[in-house]
Amino acid sequence: MRNLLQDRWQKLPEAAVRRLQAEQLRQYLRRAVLPFSSYYREVFRARNLNYDSIRTLEDLQKLPFTTKADLLNTPERQQRAKDFILIPDEKTLARRPSTILRALWRGRNRVKQEFEAEFRPIFVTFTTGRSAEPTPFFYTQRDLDNLASAARRIVEVATARPDDRLLSTLPFAPHLAFWLTHYAGTAAGVMLLSSGGGKVMGTEGNLRLIRTLKPNVIIGMPTFIYHLMQQAADEGARCKNLRALVLAGEKVSEGLREKLRALAAELGAPNLQVLATYGFTEAKQAWTECPFPPDQAPSGYHLYPDLCVIEVTDPKTGEQVPSGQPGELVFTPLDARGSVVLRYRTGDFIDGGLTYETCPYCGRCAPRLVGNISRRSEIKEMNLDKIKGTLVDFNELEHVLDDSKTIGSWQIELRKVKDDPLELDELILHVQKVNNTDEKLVSRELNQRCVSRLEIQPNRILFHSADEMRQLQGVGTLLKEQKLVDNRPSAKPIPQVSATPPQAMQADKLQPEIGG
Ligand SMILES: [Zn+2]
Repeated sequence: MRNLLQDRWQKLPEAAVRRLQAEQLRQYLRRAVLPFSSYYREVFRARNLNYDSIRTLEDLQKLPFTTKADLLNTPERQQRAKDFILIPDEKTLARRPSTILRALWRGRNRVKQEFEAEFRPIFVTFTTGRSAEPTPFFYTQRDLDNLASAARRIVEVATARPDDRLLSTLPFAPHLAFWLTHYAGTAAGVMLLSSGGGKVMGTEGNLRLIRTLKPNVIIGMPTFIYHLMQQAADEGARCKNLRALVLAGEKVSEGLREKLRALAAELGAPNLQVLATYGFTEAKQAWTECPFPPDQAPSGYHLYPDLCVIEVTDPKTGEQVPSGQPGELVFTPLDARGSVVLRYRTGDFIDGGLTYETCPYCGRCAPRLVGNISRRSEIKEMNLDKIKGTLVDFNELEHVLDDSKTIGSWQIELRKVKDDPLELDELILHVQKVNNTDEKLVSRELNQRCVSRLEIQPNRILFHSADEMRQLQGVGTLLKEQKLVDNRPSAKPIPQVSATPPQAMQADKLQPEIGG
């Protein structure tokens, strides 16, 4: 059943959005979450809450956060992720007057099929391994329909046209970004070719596709796209049709956008749009920026108010902050089935906050997340000197490297002095210099910027050719290119995401019973 929020998602003022979202949330809790989520039923019961306790978006604060840790398996609870799946109870569904009416009107079989589509998990993606173990997230047909709608809206906001050709270089993997892109092509009716990225076809294979397909839009992770465009420029390739890059999976700084625009100009595409997207497994959707003038800042990620509520919260107090204020992003779906998390704490911080103002570029009136997003997990404590641990903000370090005009690709490496686990930590920068700048000048500039923006200095700066950087980053060999490598002997190995679900997560064990 369609509603006003869904039909007019990009046209409603703040007061209407917040009112309609609160009402949709209340109905969602009443009809789907509280009857069928054992986890949240218990959360509400323990706090003496029911669906009627949530009448405004401020009331969401009565609920506790759900964190990444809540989803991880423990020795006592081997399949934590399963606790978050909505498992319907046939008797409850059958007793509902709406079910009885529908059954009388359209027949029992039809109603049963509709419940199957709504509740039976039929599709899975996994988290990308930032956490200790990849966590599965389950979709029903209804979730896939919502994924397709979110994907179609990305195409609309990023203004791809029906006669465009899209090249996706995202790796073939059970990850949100890949599947969302797949649905973007089919749901919007636009030609999309998925190359599988560097690991499947190599840089060379992707270059061949650029030459033959002549894409208007290339989608992928920034590190791989940078290598691809650099090699294309080195080989004198032309790609005059290229109008936009849509980047996923890593943060996108202004410095990186400039470098990509410069490379596109070398390929004969001087008016390139570089658009960033933001999404995460638990959201089962992602959001994009709209096209903007190159001398202006992007207007932010355009959200879909009918599919989710995003709160911006003070990480210390956990309270919601006013519009436009920075804070941590907290996600609550408004129509999800399958795996459902309420008030999911992302660990991601937005520096410009949430705004409901009309977008200055596309004129849409939808909530937007404005500014840079950084990850709490990317602030690490390091022992760089004998006195005390130093907090190093790798988000900021990445910005320093992306913003430097004298270097192209880069990699940050963490080591121990003499590889001795008891020794101090070392920070090593591997960089590829561009524009024939003198190595000493590049080192001096990078050192100065690290000191002024991070109050630390790298132990060493090592220079490499573009080819050596490709090897260091694993372009063409790894699923995701490596920009930050932890080679400290004590460090835990970086978890690799396997393409097959772990044994304990076989689908047949996870089918909820929708019997009869
Ligand atoms: Zn816009």
